[in-house]
Amino acid sequence: MGLNYDFNNIFAKILKKEIPNETVLETKHSLAFKDINPAAPIHILVIPKGPYVNYDHFISNATDEEIIDFNKTVKEVIEKQELDPKSNGNGYRLIANTGINGVQEVPHLHFHILGGKNMGFMVSKT
Ligand code: 5GP
Repeated sequence: MGLNYDFNNIFAKILKKEIPNETVLETKHSLAFKDINPAAPIHILVIPKGPYVNYDHFISNATDEEIIDFNKTVKEVIEKQELDPKSNGNGYRLIANTGINGVQEVPHLHFHILGGKNMGFMVSKT
């Protein structure tokens, strides 16, 4: 079954500037902005500007330029927020919730970058 991109999803509206966002970093192909309902002191979402539902959809259909841009944007946000252990940051969690079992709320690929506190265990075991 193929994936249909919903051009009216909330992140599509952010990209069309129909609703505001707190931008952290913008590049030719990617946008990083603060999550509206942060789950940690630092909670930033990174999205590609293209119409991709999830990571697999993105990697299968995006250009190499888009893929490189997206991955470098994630890296730059991590560095900009001083989260990277190699630079004495305290680390972070990178999450891409996908589909029903991943409990993905917004059907536009996004990486969550969470930091600023100990994030605890990755998933509930119950
Ligand atoms: P998901 O559950 O799809 O992985 O995460 C979606 C995220 O988008 C949630 O953390 C939620 O708080 C965030 N979010 C939903 N609507 C908006 C919005 O209008 N603006 C911003 N900045 N974040 C949003």
